[in-house]
Amino acid sequence: MKMIQLCVHDFDGNGFRTFDASPGNVNVHTACRQAVGDIFGSVILKFYDESGGLKNRAPVELMSDLLVKNPLLIDVAHNYYQSNRVALDSFMPEGKGFLLGWHTNPVMALAELFTRRKLQILTAEISAEQCGDDTWPQLTKNFDVFWREIKATPDSYTAILSSGHDYFIKRVFDLWDLELPDVMVTDDDMRAIEQGNGIAPYKPDPQLMYEVWDRFESRTGLRSDQYQTIYFGDDAEKDGGLAESAGVPFYHFGDSDPKGFDTTKDWLDRVPLVGRNVA
Ligand SMILES: [Mg+2]
Repeated sequence: MKMIQLCVHDFDGNGFRTFDASPGNVNVHTACRQAVGDIFGSVILKFYDESGGLKNRAPVELMSDLLVKNPLLIDVAHNYYQSNRVALDSFMPEGKGFLLGWHTNPVMALAELFTRRKLQILTAEISAEQCGDDTWPQLTKNFDVFWREIKATPDSYTAILSSGHDYFIKRVFDLWDLELPDVMVTDDDMRAIEQGNGIAPYKPDPQLMYEVWDRFESRTGLRSDQYQTIYFGDDAEKDGGLAESAGVPFYHFGDSDPKGFDTTKDWLDRVPLVGRNVA
């Protein structure tokens, strides 16, 4: 039987070096700190810094921590939103993200606002065109070669599964003249999914992979037994853990990791996997 393959990729730190500072000296950490200061006022930055900064917290987690200690922040943030809503709404595609309901779910509303402001700051740093070493964000080594190889191989498909955001990811693919993925599931989709406990799912929750499969199957008309999935990511815990609980082979990008996954820092090493049965 002919092998149909779905290559699922993480985005940040996997295909693109978004954790490096831009020429304007902005990265994810500085953008988050600036977003907190802009939305809540600079007075809160002392508290933010003393509580350890971002500490890899998801937006919902970070906002929940800030709000518990400073309940009046909700009004400050709402005022900020009212004054900036037109610009901020333009960063979220129709039907994505969380509908900003301030009184029904303040933590999710704050997380949504924070996400949009962070995105506004980071997107401004994306280079307008390729300009050598100054292009931001840079590709990881030979990611473009690998991506084009998958795109050129019949019956091989691409997906992005990311805690990042649609608008940013599409802009970066355009910057590098790379064809967009066949399927994309991001944190914007996760925030739009209503959960019983009111918190959007995040990696390593395998629900994110189920969402990829749903979209892939409705796009291609394939059934789950007609194709094979491989997952590529740079975070052994979050991406690797997700792959394990979803039951798909995982290939790690980066330095060797304690979980013992197959690891490389050069995408040329992954080219032989394209179109090959790895189950
Ligand atoms: Mg990553």
